[in-house]
Order: sequence, then C-alpha cells, then structure tokens
Amino acid sequence: MATKLTYLEDFDVVTCDAKVESIHTTEDNRTDIVLDETCFYPRGGGQDWDTGIISNNSGAKFQVEEVRLDESGVVHHIGTYQSGELKVDDKVKCSVDIERREINTRLHSAGHLVDMVVERLRLPWVAGKGAHYPHMSFVEYDAEITPEEAEAIKKDIEKVANEIIAKGSHNEIRFMPVSEMHTVCKHVPENIPTNKPARVVLYDETFGIPCGGTHVKDVHDIGRITISKIKSKKGITKVSYAVEGIN
Ligand SMILES: [Zn+2]
Repeated sequence: MATKLTYLEDFDVVTCDAKVESIHTTEDNRTDIVLDETCFYPRGGGQDWDTGIISNNSGAKFQVEEVRLDESGVVHHIGTYQSGELKVDDKVKCSVDIERREINTRLHSAGHLVDMVVERLRLPWVAGKGAHYPHMSFVEYDAEITPEEAEAIKKDIEKVANEIIAKGSHNEIRFMPVSEMHTVCKHVPENIPTNKPARVVLYDETFGIPCGGTHVKDVHDIGRITISKIKSKKGITKVSYAVEGIN
C-alpha cells in the first residue's frame, strides 16, 4: 500500500508518528524500512531526499541516509542503526534533519520562483526539467535566445526575482483533481504522477505550481538569488541559479 506522505499537507511538517510496515536488507547491506506514513521527502522533481532519524521508545535509533519512492507509491527509508533495532508493527517517531530540508526547500522554491519571474516577464518559455541541488541548481526552458538576449534576461530575472523575495508572499497548498489544475496553473504537465495526490502550491496567491516537493511558506524565506548563467543551445535555454548562503 502507498505510504501516506505527511509532508505534503503543510509547509513545515518535519516530524510525524508512524508504524513500521516492513523491514528488509538492501543489496549493499543497509536496512530498508517501510512505514505506514512518513514526513521524509524521497528524491524526486529535482529535489534531493531528506535525511534524519526514525526511533522507537525502547532506544532503537535508525539513521535515514536515503529515501526513495517506488512505482507503487511506497517510500523506502534506507540507512543504518545507531542503536537497537526496530521491529515490524513498532510505533516510531520520524524526525527530518531540518537543516538539510531547509536547504533543499529553499533551492527547490528558488527554481519555481525563476518560473514565476519568466511568466511575469512574459517570456514565451515552457519549463522543462530542473535540478535543485546545492552542487547544481538550474531550470531548463523550451526556448532559444542569442547570447546578447541571455545577458539582458539574466539581469532582468535576477532583479525581478529579488524584488519578489524582498516583498514576501503568502503561499498556499491546495489539493485538487488534475482536471482542475489549469484554473490556477499556466502549465499542467501531462505526466503528473498518479502515485501521489494531485497537489498545487500557490505562490503569491496567483502562481499555481503542480508539485509534490517541499516549498517555502513565504518567498522571503528563499533568501537572495543570483542568476549565475543563462545558456541557450539546440532549442533549450538553461537558467542556472544560486541562493545566498547555500551555493
Ligand atoms: Zn517543484
């Protein structure tokens, strides 16, 4: 059965209570724990997985090193024991490493903010893939521009993005059928995963994002953004960015 994803429900869910459903040994001799629900974000959508601790009240402590979502919507918490051992049916407490989560959330939100600015600047670009890792943060668009245009747009995106960040916002989480997403989202991807609830995060009350990742509650929390590079090649324009204090 699919794992209930508690981090989807609110912006700052970093702990939850859960029950152990199954425990397996992985090929590399680590332990793979499946719970009935989890606040750990699995890698996906260009955002990295959470790390943290799963513990019970008899002293077992499991270090979550890697989190994966499988095709059935089951989340696998892969890692090693620091003390004791967990058993199937154990009641456990999940605690996400807040510092790492915050970095991933700010980087991921910064990528969506770039999308929002692209729309505000009325650039006719369609967003493609993105990566929001500390060592590599970019968003790709289906567009081709000249190096001169790239230089001008780089400055514009950075300026408008930092204006939006300085002003702040009230972001909101909504769940809705995929068929209704177009009412708040300009682009609804055709490949929205069906193994997660259809979720839209509304930035600044106007910009709807179909996304199951973790997001800042207010764009102000992203911190200052720098557009480090815009490169256009073979119909793809790649906007690389950095967030102050992270990368
Ligand atoms: Zn996203």
